[in-house]
Amino acid sequence: MSSNIPTDPALERFNSIPDFGAFKPENAGPLLKRLIQAQDQALLALEASCTPSWAGVVQPLTELAEPLSYAWGVVHHLLSVKDTEALREVVQALQPEVVAAGLRLAQSQTLYHAYRELKSGSGWNVLDEAQRRVVDAAILSAEHSGIALEGAERTRFNEIEAELARLGTLFGNHALDATKAFSLILADKEQVLGLPETVLAMMAQSARSVAESEPALANATPDSGPWRLTLDAPILIPFLKHAKSRELRENLYRAYVTQASAGELDNQPVILDILKLKREKAALLGYNTYAALSLSRKMAKEIGAVQKMLDDLRKTARPVAEEEYAELLRFVATQNAEANPELKLWDIGYWAERQREQTLDFTDEQLRPFFPLPRVLEGLFGVAERLFGVRIVAADGEAPVWEPSVRFFRVVDRAGEAVASFFLDPYTRPAEKRQGAWMNTCLDRKLLTDGSVRLPVAYLICNQSPPVGETPSLMTFSEVETLFHEFGHGLQHMLTRVDYVDAAGINNIEWDAVELPSQFMENWCYHRPTLLTFARHFESGEPLPQHLFDKLLSARNYRAGSQFLRQVHLGSLDLALHSSFDPAGEQSIQTLAEAVAQENTILPPLAEDRFLCTFGHIFAGGYAAGYYSYKWAEVLAADAFTAFTDAGLDNPEKLAEVGSRFRETVLALGGGKEPGAVFRMFRGRDPDPKALLQSYGLSPASP
Ligand SMILES: [Zn+2]
Repeated sequence: MSSNIPTDPALERFNSIPDFGAFKPENAGPLLKRLIQAQDQALLALEASCTPSWAGVVQPLTELAEPLSYAWGVVHHLLSVKDTEALREVVQALQPEVVAAGLRLAQSQTLYHAYRELKSGSGWNVLDEAQRRVVDAAILSAEHSGIALEGAERTRFNEIEAELARLGTLFGNHALDATKAFSLILADKEQVLGLPETVLAMMAQSARSVAESEPALANATPDSGPWRLTLDAPILIPFLKHAKSRELRENLYRAYVTQASAGELDNQPVILDILKLKREKAALLGYNTYAALSLSRKMAKEIGAVQKMLDDLRKTARPVAEEEYAELLRFVATQNAEANPELKLWDIGYWAERQREQTLDFTDEQLRPFFPLPRVLEGLFGVAERLFGVRIVAADGEAPVWEPSVRFFRVVDRAGEAVASFFLDPYTRPAEKRQGAWMNTCLDRKLLTDGSVRLPVAYLICNQSPPVGETPSLMTFSEVETLFHEFGHGLQHMLTRVDYVDAAGINNIEWDAVELPSQFMENWCYHRPTLLTFARHFESGEPLPQHLFDKLLSARNYRAGSQFLRQVHLGSLDLALHSSFDPAGEQSIQTLAEAVAQENTILPPLAEDRFLCTFGHIFAGGYAAGYYSYKWAEVLAADAFTAFTDAGLDNPEKLAEVGSRFRETVLALGGGKEPGAVFRMFRGRDPDPKALLQSYGLSPASP
């Protein structure tokens, strides 16, 4: 790298953790520009000197790409957890240049030919399996980056890529701004009847948070309000489940399903543009549809294979979901003769929750006190220690953070040697943080030139309720599962033994296999001895009572048919949009969405439902023609968990033995081996879908 690049501790120490405290958006622009220049220079130098070998082309390419991807990674991370106007400007201004710089690497004819020569030459024989997968993936990736295109086609391809990146960011910004733009101030106690304490407290806190512009809200309290109703998930979801006011539920529901579908924040034209461009891109690369392009690099490979899985699941789930709806109607009839038995979409969540309370006789809210975040973390870390032989040690203050509530932890193995570290950003901050939960990589594991190993670092991001006053963050059971899920991704990133960045951890793993460790980890929330290591009342210390645990287990299968059908719906919609749907044809997106809904929903969506406008997974994330992956990977995860059940969940030695095999295969091999082969190494056979169906009580073969 040339020496005239100014140092920036947040963006430019790419073998260490970024210095978030020192980050200044105004420095990011010039620095990124210089990193782009440096990368271009290094690319020219490599093109002049490369030879068809690992050390002659693959390794130097990884090296030269790292500074920019590191800096851009930090900027993107901050955009998702600490959004500011200034940062957005940097991203919007620089994104096209960063994308273009990435394309220059990916589309270098010289490097592409060096890779092809490496694959066909004698150098191939000395590569190990992980190295070969890296080279194969790079060749396919180059081909998908338009390497074979020339002239006008190449130019058009590059325009499409830059435009898709811009549209994806725009989609996400619209969705976030639409969420922020909606709020209702409720001053009348009648309006909040039915809501649990924790939700009232959050709504009062939310009201106080905007007191600067509305001074009357400065003294909002949980008991007497005013309360601020928003589309922020920790308020939205419990409000739809608990609020007695049908009118407010309807208002909120309508606002929710029409977010970002009108005015300045309208995502509908953005979606149509994205679909058009994706189809055009696929055609340029020789694929009929974007789905065909997407699946060519996935474990499933063929559209037909995905379609078959979705059809199979629908066949089992739909009749069960219909029966669940009929049961719900019968239940409502017994509850309130005055209630209109005709259920609307904003009634389903409310009445399903009442039915659940009656049949299962507990609420999410009753469970919260048993899941204070600090204890849940102890329990989660205990699982990692018992199964995988790693200890997780709090190391707050040892690394800079972007927000005071963010925690930092180190992962050490039995011998006390450092293996990895991670950040945990647990709480929702609707004004500056994207919704949802995710794991992202901060640093990848890498063998450095001096022979030492750069250890992996992960970001674990959740959006649960923050502590209120003296009370710690009390989690719903689903937030506990989410934390286990993201930690599962983190484990695969952190416990990798692969030393090549491009195949370490979650890198180079096929999308539809990448959810295996995360969904696998969720199963431990239903393992009683495991759960009891941490499910204790935050005040009294009383363990979660047996009857509540039993109910948790039954709750897992509660309305499972409907939940399955929902996932099948989203997977089918995604697949249809990216395969059969022609964005330039007669049919509108809305018509297609309605047709797919007819097959996969019991109550049809509202005519004005524009849920797609906030379906960030497929329009702002990487799940286009890949949403089915969740279910695909669940098949793998459920079957992997049965390896532990078969060994005996209450036998610590057996658990450790199977755990160690899981660590050495699924968690250690990363993207260095084909996922089907990794699974067979762990399980001794191919995955069996029965385990998934049985775990939801949906299989005809289940007891
Ligand atoms: Zn996941």
